Amino acid sequence: MRCMLCNMPLYLPNHGICNQCIKNLPKLDKVCYQCGLPHSLATDICYRCREEKPYWDELVAVSDYIHPLKKLIHHFKFNQRIEVNMALARLMFLAWYQRRQSLGIDKPDLVTCVPLHHIRYWSRGFNQAQLLAKPIAKWLNRDFAPYLLARKHQAVDQKNLSLERRALNVEKLFSCKQNLLNKSVMLIDDIVTSGNTINAISKQLKNCGAIRVQIICLCRTVL
Ligand SMILES: [Zn+2]
Ligand SMILES: [Zn+2]
Repeated sequence: MRCMLCNMPLYLPNHGICNQCIKNLPKLDKVCYQCGLPHSLATDICYRCREEKPYWDELVAVSDYIHPLKKLIHHFKFNQRIEVNMALARLMFLAWYQRRQSLGIDKPDLVTCVPLHHIRYWSRGFNQAQLLAKPIAKWLNRDFAPYLLARKHQAVDQKNLSLERRALNVEKLFSCKQNLLNKSVMLIDDIVTSGNTINAISKQLKNCGAIRVQIICLCRTVL
C-alpha cells in the first residue's frame, strides 16, 4: 500500500496518507474557534460570531477546500474507495485531537452526521458524512447515532433564492425527536460552506436538550 498523495510506500498501510503528506497539508491561517473561518482579531472568536452567535459551539476543520484535500474528496465521491474514506476520517480525527490537546475541548457523548434526504441517499447509495462519522465514533469510543435527525425534501431550488431566504429554508429542513438532555454531540460534515445546514441542525440538537455541539469537517470554505 502506497501513500495516496505522494505514492511512497506506507509504514502503516491502513493510514492511507503518509505522515510527511499530513505535515505538508496546507495550514489554515488564524481561524475563529467557533466558525472555523480566518479572522484577524487577537481573540479566539471572530467578530461575526460575536455579532451573531451560531448554535454550534466549536468547529474543527482539516483544511480549506483546496489541493490536495479537494482531489481526495472528489476521488472519494466518485470512486467510493473505502481506503480514501478511512484516510479522510483519520485526518478529521487528528485535527480534533490537536484541538483537544491545545484547548482541552471535551470528548462528546455521541457522534452524528448531517443526514441526506432519502431520495438522494438512494440515488447516490451512500452518505459521505455518515461514512466519515462512523470510524470517528469508533476511535472516540462513543455511540454513533446516524439517524438522530430527519431531513425533509428540499422543495425549492436554493440557487434562485436570496441568502436570507436560503437560511430560512434550510432551517425548516431538519427535525430531531430524540431526548438529548445534557448530552454533548459531535456533528460530522464533509464540506461546510455557508454554515446554514450545520446551524439549522445545531439549533434542533440544542432544542432537544444538547448542551454542546462540536462540528468536525474536512473542509471549511467561504466559496
Ligand atoms: Zn505521502
Ligand atoms: Zn467565527
